[in-house]
Amino acid sequence: MQMKFTCPDCGVQMKFDEETGGLRCPSCSRTEQTEGYEKDFIKYYHVKQLKEFGDEEARLYVCRSCGMKLVTNNRTALKECYFCGGAMTIGERLSGDLMPTGIIPFSISEKKARKAFSKWFLKVKFAPREFKVKKRDFKCHAVYLPAWLFQFRGQGEAMLHATRSKEGVDEEDKEKIIETEHYDLYRRFDLGFDRIPVCASGKIEERFLEALEPYDFSKLKEFDLYSDFGIPAEQYSLMDEKAEKRAKKRVQELMDEYLLSTGENYEEVKPVEREYQIGKAGTEYIWLPVWFVSIEPGDNEYLFVMNGQTGKVAMDPPYNPVKIFIAGGLGVTFAFLLIRIIVLLSGGSLI
Ligand SMILES: [Zn+2]
Repeated sequence: MQMKFTCPDCGVQMKFDEETGGLRCPSCSRTEQTEGYEKDFIKYYHVKQLKEFGDEEARLYVCRSCGMKLVTNNRTALKECYFCGGAMTIGERLSGDLMPTGIIPFSISEKKARKAFSKWFLKVKFAPREFKVKKRDFKCHAVYLPAWLFQFRGQGEAMLHATRSKEGVDEEDKEKIIETEHYDLYRRFDLGFDRIPVCASGKIEERFLEALEPYDFSKLKEFDLYSDFGIPAEQYSLMDEKAEKRAKKRVQELMDEYLLSTGENYEEVKPVEREYQIGKAGTEYIWLPVWFVSIEPGDNEYLFVMNGQTGKVAMDPPYNPVKIFIAGGLGVTFAFLLIRIIVLLSGGSLI
């Protein structure tokens, strides 16, 4: 940390003081407030080495119509694309490509996923008629979604300006007055950010993963090529360097939030100066369980997704805006609560 703070009394550069965890002027010994100093060093519980598939361990299938890339074990053949229903080209052997270090197993069965979808459809009061499909019309596929998981260490040093006001009475004319006290607060912290996920899928956008979150990462287990590889996974397309940039941005936002939270006892808190150092502590490449359900009502095609661990749903319900308009405010609220526009794949257009 290279931030410079000069002593308000004598103008000499103040130094960090281990004893108090605050700043001390070497000349006049003035100290700055030390509230909020955190010495919360993370215990980096596991920093994984990325692994690769060996020869004959995995195959890559590519969809001829949408370009979707799915990875399977060398015993599984895929004919139809999970996303668009297009034909898949015969899988090439994958070797030297990344193998996940961790995996979250499915807890939601296909039966449960289908049931949840039918139940949900019944609730979609504003769906166009053709959308009310029966169970057997669903195409239900389990697939793993590729994601990066980052661990960061974030160190920060900052000066905040804060105020505190109190009401009083003026001695002379007995009028009410408000006295405001101003504070300069020094903060220094060291934080650990454990599992910052970034979606590595090429077909699914980041916001899709956000809509399916949270995943319970305590259930993350080491990937076993023999017991965990019965279900295909989408091949990663976002590389770790790009994903790291996104994750770092998120960490910076979290550090800002933390910094402001250290001034909770004041009325108004503003950062005057701040400096962060964010260092990556570890990377994992993982697979997250997802159920994809596609429906083909008439000429349109829609895709629905469900978190395979928790059952949380993210989808595009094709609703009818005229019906919503007639139903008024309540209906609109209902629709907004449930609707999250996530993916529009080939042929699918929202009304
Ligand atoms: Zn496809």
